[in-house]
Amino acid sequence: MSTIDPGAPILDTRERVTARKVSAAEMARAALDRAQALQKTLNAFVDLFPDQAMEQARAVDARIARGEPVGALAGVPVAIKDNMSLAYGRTTCCSRILENYRAPYTATAVQKLIDAGAIIVGKTTMDEFAMGSSGEHSCFGPTRNPWDLSRVPGGSSSGSTAAVAAGIVPASLGSDTGGSIRQPAGLCGIYGLKPTYGLVSRYGLVAFASSLDQIGPLTRTVDDLAAMLSVIMGHDDMDSTSATAHVDAMRDLHTPVDGLTLGVPRQARSTANTPGVAAALEAGIKTFRDLGARIIDIDLPHIDHGIAAYYIIAPAEASSNLARFDGVRYGRRAQLGPGEDLMALYCKSRSEGFGPEVQRRIMLGTHVLSSGYFDAYYLTALKVRRLIKNDYDAAFKQGCHAILMPSSPSPAFTLGSKTSDPLAMYLEDVYTVGVNLAGLPGLTMPGGFEKVTDNGRAAELPVGLQLVGPALGENTLLRIAAMFADRTTWHTRRPAI
Ligand code: GLN
Repeated sequence: MSTIDPGAPILDTRERVTARKVSAAEMARAALDRAQALQKTLNAFVDLFPDQAMEQARAVDARIARGEPVGALAGVPVAIKDNMSLAYGRTTCCSRILENYRAPYTATAVQKLIDAGAIIVGKTTMDEFAMGSSGEHSCFGPTRNPWDLSRVPGGSSSGSTAAVAAGIVPASLGSDTGGSIRQPAGLCGIYGLKPTYGLVSRYGLVAFASSLDQIGPLTRTVDDLAAMLSVIMGHDDMDSTSATAHVDAMRDLHTPVDGLTLGVPRQARSTANTPGVAAALEAGIKTFRDLGARIIDIDLPHIDHGIAAYYIIAPAEASSNLARFDGVRYGRRAQLGPGEDLMALYCKSRSEGFGPEVQRRIMLGTHVLSSGYFDAYYLTALKVRRLIKNDYDAAFKQGCHAILMPSSPSPAFTLGSKTSDPLAMYLEDVYTVGVNLAGLPGLTMPGGFEKVTDNGRAAELPVGLQLVGPALGENTLLRIAAMFADRTTWHTRRPAI
């Protein structure tokens, strides 16, 4: 058995690779082997790229051998959610409609990883077009939670999260439109960061809801989270929503925030939280108090309306973004019978290509944008969006560096338990969607464990805590997470897989 740990922290791997204690090729091989060995169990990957990964690794090793400088991720294996374009392999979004789609170019965030010396091990499983909170809406079957294989890893960045939690890679990229990085990170006991809207280029990310989508990292340590963010962020002329502002992610990472003040929303101490989530929040508050932080009560009075507003705005944008998949320009094209016309081609291709959840969103979105309903739904949702943003602004005006709350109201649920009830699935996002609606950064960190029993089967499952900051407050969030990590051991526990 190999003694190389492909999931070792980024800094360790980079140091060992540059000191030639291990080669990038050996790291790549170890990650590919572990991915392969766990594929049947977890279904974390859509495709692995052994040839290209080994080629990338050998290029890194060659540079080191020649004494040339290498990037911040030299020899580090990473995984990419399958809604990010890559100039080789498929980019499927786990949808039948893109099952054989090959992107002609590479997404900026992914290219930045490659340029920094990372090894792209493969593309990861996700909810179709990133719509979902469980990983079950994938045309390639569900991903499983490494902590308990009868449970979901969360979603929609299900495979990217499971791959990191299972130690296949130390880091991956996910996308977060309403919680798709933070919710699964919480359910799998790892770190996840949704950056400020615009901080990371979305060029090459298949659009779901363009005013909400953001790419971000998933990792097992705070340092790795900061390292990944440093590499992927930055202005990009190819993305018109890309910010010109800069965040110094690594600065003073291990220096405690002076006079730290955290706001805890009254609404986050909800009876909807499971006992373990409620206990983790209170324990988290106590830990921060012990660290000398001031804890203040804040109000996010519109938090409950976030779900309603999000599930109007996101489907509205999705219905327009997904109009391009028409069976003519991209992807799957249906077979037509004699006498069937162009309209039949559109209808058949889209009906065959899109799964039930995506169809539901397109119908919802088309409805709320239709004349006569536009004002009642879409415009009202935009107004609620503004109120939610105002709530966050008011909280930060009260002087808190960040807001502390759960990342989701319950730990990982069993496979199939919410698939027939879309509303129950949507309620998973109660603590996350507002952050996207307001364009703010949100970080999930391991915050505890909850013992649960379902169908007579006992399990101990991770619980995530979320820190929300003002726009471009990533450095502070990372420093607060580092303070918490120094005082707790939740992030050091690993699933027995
Ligand atoms: N769960 C949410 C949804 O289904 C969020 C998805 C996401 O962030 N991509 O829309």
